[in-house]
Parts: sequence; C-alpha cells; structure tokens
Amino acid sequence: MQQEATIWGHPKGLFVLFFTELWERFSFYGMRAILVLYLTQQTTVDNPGLGWTSKEALALYGWYGMMVYFMGIFGGVAADKWLGQKKSVFIGGIFVILGQFSIAIEGLAYFYTGLVLLVIGVGLLKPNISTMVGGLYKKGDSRRDAGFTIFYIGINIGALVAPIIVGTVAEKIGWHLGFSIAGFGMIIGQLVYIGFRKHLAGVGELLKHSKTDAHLANQPLTKIEKDRIIVLLISFLIVIVFWAAYEQAGGLMNLYARDNVNRFIFGWEIPTSYFQSLHALYVVLIGGPMAWLWLKWSKMGKESSAIFKMAVGMIVMSISFLVLMGAVYEASVSALGKSSMHWLLFAYFLHVVAELSISPISLSFITKLAPAKYASLMMGAYFAIVGLGNKAAGMIGGVAQDAGEMTVFGIIAAACLIVGLLLFVLVKKLKAISHGAEDNIETPQVLVEPE
Ligand code: GLN
Repeated sequence: MQQEATIWGHPKGLFVLFFTELWERFSFYGMRAILVLYLTQQTTVDNPGLGWTSKEALALYGWYGMMVYFMGIFGGVAADKWLGQKKSVFIGGIFVILGQFSIAIEGLAYFYTGLVLLVIGVGLLKPNISTMVGGLYKKGDSRRDAGFTIFYIGINIGALVAPIIVGTVAEKIGWHLGFSIAGFGMIIGQLVYIGFRKHLAGVGELLKHSKTDAHLANQPLTKIEKDRIIVLLISFLIVIVFWAAYEQAGGLMNLYARDNVNRFIFGWEIPTSYFQSLHALYVVLIGGPMAWLWLKWSKMGKESSAIFKMAVGMIVMSISFLVLMGAVYEASVSALGKSSMHWLLFAYFLHVVAELSISPISLSFITKLAPAKYASLMMGAYFAIVGLGNKAAGMIGGVAQDAGEMTVFGIIAAACLIVGLLLFVLVKKLKAISHGAEDNIETPQVLVEPE
C-alpha cells in the first residue's frame, strides 16, 4: 500500500487524483460547453461553425453524452482484465488529449475521429480514476466517503471554470483554439498524474490472478459477493431516477429560467447560461461542510450507511422540485408571468445537497461493495447507468413541452419522494445483505482476491 503521509488527514495520492480529474473534467466540460454552439454556428460568419440545425446538434450532444458514460463499461472491463486501473487512466488520458486536438483541427473527418477518441478516452479514464480513489483507503476506513467528496470537489472546480475559459476563448477568438485549450487542460492533468505517481504506489494495479491464473478469475462468486452485487444493482436504480431529475437543470430548468424567471438584478439581466454554473459552484462551496456533517453524524453513532444517505438525498431532491412548483405557481399568478429567481437559486442548492448525499457516496459505496475482481466493471456499470439517467432526463424534458412544467415537476417530486421513502424502509434489509461491507472497523473480509 501507499505510504502513510497525509494532507488534511487524507493520503497524498488523493490529491494527485484530485488534480488529474480536475483537469480531465476541465477538458470534458470545456468541450461540452462549446460543442452545441460550434455545431450550430453558421458557416458564413467570422469564426464559422458547422451550420447544423439545433435539432441535429442536440441529437449529437445527446448521443455523445450517453456514449462517453456508456463506454465506462468497456473501460471497466479493460481495467479488470488487462490493464489495471492505473494504466487505464493513463491510456485514457492520452486518448482524451488526441481527441481534443483532433477536434481542434479543421475538417469533419477530424471532428468525428476526435469524438470517437474522446468517448474511448473518457470511458477508460473516468470510472477507473474513481475506483482508484477507493483504492487509497483500506477496508473499514471511515475517511473513505469524505475522500470521495474531496475528489468530487476537484471535479466541480474543473466543471466550474472550464465553460468560462474555454467558452470565452472559443466564442471570442475561435472554436478550434477553444478545443485546443480543452486539450491542454488534459495535458496538465496527465503531467500531474505522471509527475506525482509515486504517491499512487500499489493503487490501481492489475490483480495478479486476472492475468496469470485465468481459472481463479473464473471462480464463482461467493454468496456474500452475490448479495453485495444485488445491493449495488438496487442502488443503481436509484441513481437513474436521481440523474434523470438532476439533469433537468440543463434542459427543462434552463428553458424555464430563460422564459419564466425574472433574472434582473440591479437593472442587469443575468444571462440564462450563468445558472448552469450553479451546481458546480454549490458543490465547491458546500462539499466540505457536507462531508464534515456526515462524518460528524456518523461519529455520533447515527445511521449513516450509504443507502440512508441516498434516501435523504432523494427526499431533498423531491423538496427541490416542490420549490420549483412554487416558482411555477408564482409565475402563473404574477402580472408579467415570471417568478423571482430565489426559487431557482434555492432549488439548485437543494439539488446539490442531494447530489452530495448520493453521487460521491455511490462512488465510495461501489468501492466498498464490489468484489475485487469486478471492481472496475461495477464502477463502469455505474457510469453507464448515469448515462441512462441523462438520456431519461432529456426524454422527460421533452414531455414537459406538452404536459406543462407544473405537472412534470410534480411527477418528478413524487417519484423522488417514493424512491426516498422506499429506501428508508429498506435500509435495514439492504444493510443486512451488504454483510458489514460498510463497517468502519478493520474486519477480516471474505471477499479479498483468491490467492
Ligand atoms: N458532475 C460529476 C462528474 O462530472 C458527476 C457526473 C455524473 O456522475 N453524472 O463527474
């Protein structure tokens, strides 16, 4: 295992992964922020785009968004079977760099090649770097959830600044320079990863048996392992509902903010797109306090299993949509047909309280429950599920065009509430079939790799 040197009480390796992923996300969200704008920009203006229709651009965006996460399954299998997580992250980073620079070159062939390279690169990198965070902590280490939350803050620092930097350069100077900057971001990430790899000694290596003892890798799962996989699969279902609700932010809530929210402050109208930075901003602001609160809660001896936190998250998510219903109501009775923006600011805040109770917690949970030989695959499957949630979000947003926001927000609030309550009921049962995977003590585990 890695040396015991720590920063803020966490292994130094956490900060290597923190900065690597920060820059990978800078590259990812920077590129994503300008993709649709570039596709739809006319071909005859200064700084021309590809001249696509919005519909075509959004379709590509949707597919790209789903594929990058879906590819996580491939990235997970590649890591479990051939590469180990550490090498997968490195190779993924190379693909991402090549992908960004390919898109930065003029010409459709380069554009499509770049997208394919990005899908492969993110698929290799994203799930595996997450699994490596878990690899920094021994079984039963109570710092694990907090470690994932710190890692998650890094993600969101990247997500927060990327659209501003890449977006400004791309729109004001040139698209291709914008894509290049996204590429440079990943180069920095890669340099951090290589330069400080000594802090990752022993983390993310290929398990010996996967390579040399094929028969051992084929050993059937034990009853405990199977039970734990069932718990994980159930938690994945929650994750779909959560992301389908959360990702309304970029679609339905975005349009709502544009058309039905009074965005004036001191006589200046806040551009609608600025609201898209709120999630990341809130994560950076409250990630630390939330991690602290959950840790304190668990130290008080209260129920703090991942399933419990997820249940709390779903209830908070439900409340956030009730808040949005308040906004729709206010808009419907106001003379101008607009609501004040406080509703939206508050709803986004609640989204992030829920996100921090679900997303980093799920990552941490997977690293506790997945059998070692399938650790990367389970993480990849998680991201594939996130991809499905994103796709579902787009579909739900589409329905709202006919059903109206009040109905759709109401349905989402109800769905989150039902899932949250169900989870509360099931906490005990699910904990029982997790067989102590979350216990914060060093217990001998049955699931270690077969020797
Ligand atoms: N915003 C986080 C990230 O980029 C979560 C993404 C997700 O799991 N949907 O990592």
